Amino acid sequence: MNFIEQIIEEDIRNGKNDAKVQTRFPPEPNGYLHIGHAKSICINFGMAEKYNGLCNLRFDDTNPVKEDTEYVDSIREDIQWLGFQWAKEFYASDYFDQLYLWAEQLINEGLAYVDDQTQEEISKGRGVPTAPGIESPYRNRSVEENLDLFRRMRAGEFPDGSRVLRAKIDMASPNMHFRDPIMYRILHASHHRTGDKWCIYPMYDFAHGQSDSIEGITHSICTLEFEVHRPLYDWFCEALRIHHPQQIEFARLNMTYTIMSKRKLLQLVKEHYVNGWDDPRMPTICGLRRRGYTPASIRNFAETVGVAKRDNIIDVSLLEFCAREDLNKTAIRTMAVLDPVKLVIDNYPEGQVEEMTAINNPEEPEAGTRTVPFSKELWIERADFRENADKKFYRLSIDREVRLKYAYIIKCTHIVKDDAGNITEIHCTYDPNTKSGMPDSNRKVKATIHWASVQHSKKAEVRLFDRLFSVEDPDNCAEGETFLDNLNPNSLVVTEAWVEPTLTLEKAMAIKHFQFERLGYFYADPDSTEEKLVFNKTVSLKQ
Ligand code: ATP
Ligand code: MG
Repeated sequence: MNFIEQIIEEDIRNGKNDAKVQTRFPPEPNGYLHIGHAKSICINFGMAEKYNGLCNLRFDDTNPVKEDTEYVDSIREDIQWLGFQWAKEFYASDYFDQLYLWAEQLINEGLAYVDDQTQEEISKGRGVPTAPGIESPYRNRSVEENLDLFRRMRAGEFPDGSRVLRAKIDMASPNMHFRDPIMYRILHASHHRTGDKWCIYPMYDFAHGQSDSIEGITHSICTLEFEVHRPLYDWFCEALRIHHPQQIEFARLNMTYTIMSKRKLLQLVKEHYVNGWDDPRMPTICGLRRRGYTPASIRNFAETVGVAKRDNIIDVSLLEFCAREDLNKTAIRTMAVLDPVKLVIDNYPEGQVEEMTAINNPEEPEAGTRTVPFSKELWIERADFRENADKKFYRLSIDREVRLKYAYIIKCTHIVKDDAGNITEIHCTYDPNTKSGMPDSNRKVKATIHWASVQHSKKAEVRLFDRLFSVEDPDNCAEGETFLDNLNPNSLVVTEAWVEPTLTLEKAMAIKHFQFERLGYFYADPDSTEEKLVFNKTVSLKQ
């Protein structure tokens, strides 16, 4: 049991909140969700699921400049794709009227004031944690003057940045968030939902707790950086005498070889370092989906990582492990040759074609079988042949035998090279008695390799990915450099492959997740057409 579950179970035992659990996932619609958000989604929705509670989706849309409905739509899609369904969908902007009334309430009670200082003067006045700050000269305005000014702020009489509304708390508090935090700022900007109704917008600290409160949230789960905001969260709930949810913080998920800041991810997209938010190299949920990660693999990852109270960095290989584990159970097997060299079976009858029975998924007998055409000329992987093979190389070499998967045992006889010395053809003979069901079908050879019939197979595009960044912590950069300098220049390699003719566009798009035998897991990319299938390599078979 993690510490959040402990808190919740104790609250249930004590009958707090009528023993109910209500959580929320509160994204700001200013970017696409990433694997870190997936962690938060799994916790918030997971806790609600586990304790028969509900989880809301609330868009924290208090910053009109950076927000957009494109993001709202993608966030909805990603949460549902992960397999979660919110009880209710809300927007912080739904509460702008209520928040405004609460602001006036605090003004009336002498707990908030309009400050005419510049942003610079305000932060200077706050000072440093070790010494008390300086009170604003506007701090002791009368309630009437504050109300009048605040209403005129709302009416649009003042330009951006000319005034703010601040809570009147304690300019000497060691917690900087208590030094008269800003509640409202003037921003003449259109909001994606409220349009031009407002030209003042509440700050995070004056919106989040109150939104939680309005929705009857019992446990407001957030990341560690909000721990220092918690006293203020509590202060506003108390000062307003409203339902008081309990804020609980956990450590953000960080992962090696990637970045998690939406601002930086946006930069990668805007400046075309990647091909959009759903580029399979991105840590975004839509990127992982297009890479071929499954919802189950991401949920298992979140579960395995657990809930920590201290910041840490998770090795990306754990995510890859979770993908393999799930895809091994579910992915349909197929044969594809990525780096082809021609194999000619000299004693195989010219023009003969046999339909070999292949198993769709050895982990799942119900997935059945299919037939794959076999003929005299096949593609095999260049790496499965070695001219000067030592004893440790078990695959094909002159005078050595291997099994062709689902087919015969072959023995290499000789090779043909071009003028440059590259192998152009590998010649072999086959043993007709070694096909499955034949007398010698159980004869043991040291290796089995995959193949694709030259005459029958289809060409496909395969996109191979490496880590987007070449260092574990891309944000840790040398002086004068940025995270962009840590980008891996070879993170995308596009190549061509020969795939089984069984792979039609329809089948590829319906099945989506494939294991290319011996090579790894691949995902049928939406760029695929009838003419050319496109596959993204999700992850290799082994680490
Ligand atoms: P930014 O990247 O701009 O700082 P953000 O990642 O905090 O923003 P939000 O939309 O505010 O984005 O996040 C929604 C929720 O997801 C918040 O509760 C936040 O704490 C949580 N969250 C964000 N990043 C992570 C992460 N890396 N690990 C776990 N939870 C996260
Ligand atoms: Mg945030």
